[in-house]
Amino acid sequence: MFGILEAGGTKMICAVGNRDLEVLDEIRIETRRPEETFAEIKKFFAKYKAEIESIAVGSFGPIEINPDCNDYGKILNTPKEGWKDFNIVKCLEEDFPVPIFVTTDVNASAYGEYKIGRGEGKASLAYYTVGTGVGGGVVQNGNFAGGISHPEMGHMIIKKDPRDTYQGGCACHSDCLEGLASGPNIGKRFKRSAESLDPNDEFWDIEASYLAQAAYNTSLMFSPAVIVFGGGVMQVEGLIEKVREKFKELMNGYIEIKDLESYIVRPKYDGKSATYGLLILAQEIL
Ligand code: ADP
Ligand code: ZN
Repeated sequence: MFGILEAGGTKMICAVGNRDLEVLDEIRIETRRPEETFAEIKKFFAKYKAEIESIAVGSFGPIEINPDCNDYGKILNTPKEGWKDFNIVKCLEEDFPVPIFVTTDVNASAYGEYKIGRGEGKASLAYYTVGTGVGGGVVQNGNFAGGISHPEMGHMIIKKDPRDTYQGGCACHSDCLEGLASGPNIGKRFKRSAESLDPNDEFWDIEASYLAQAAYNTSLMFSPAVIVFGGGVMQVEGLIEKVREKFKELMNGYIEIKDLESYIVRPKYDGKSATYGLLILAQEIL
């Protein structure tokens, strides 16, 4: 049996699963301060202490994910109350002396899609989540892109649409991709939730132009075999089609992509990509 933890900024999903990627038990809890939150997580895993062979964590960031580093598993510079410098690996190790793997939440989703989803049989995959934040990860020949840290593709600088009067809401960069295109920033723009906006609203054209720029930049930098867009915002009807259209305009034939419909795609396992990714990663570290 393997333990997995999807550690999000607003909620945590804690589960145990098996080699067949079946989830056998799980809990979902609200993310509070780390001590309280991890007390609950440990209580859950403790039920399976004798059976858990390894634990894989996909966490919000920034987080140290280099296993050779002393601070492996440490949450870095976050505004989230109490979380800065909290070390997830050290905390779990205290109670569970098994191999523990940690990566970003979006890398976990990317890996699930790479192994058994949209990237199955392909050499590489890029994954974006467009939700509470915007994040991205790249898997190439089985490895995550990264070096000094993990990618922060959600904070890339993009061109603002002239029709868009919103100044952008990223605390660090104002109008970076996340500052313009994340769910909460759509919400702030219209003073209503992103999901309550009509799918035919002109804004979705603007949103698509932002995501298409991300896909364009990603194609030029990594040339992945496929680009997956997941996260709550991507559920808007017609949005992925608009992203493909804008991408085609931007690319203007520079890189020839034969089948755009299978190049820019929604996840195969929407909402479950990270679960599968982590269950696979937990097995692979043994
Ligand atoms: P998280 O990023 O916390 O994992 P989600 O991917 O569900 O969670 O993202 C939540 C954000 O996505 C919220 O800002 C919400 O407004 C937006 N969202 C969720 N569902 C939809 C939808 N069907 N249409 C548009 N926006 C949505
Ligand atoms: Zn930013």
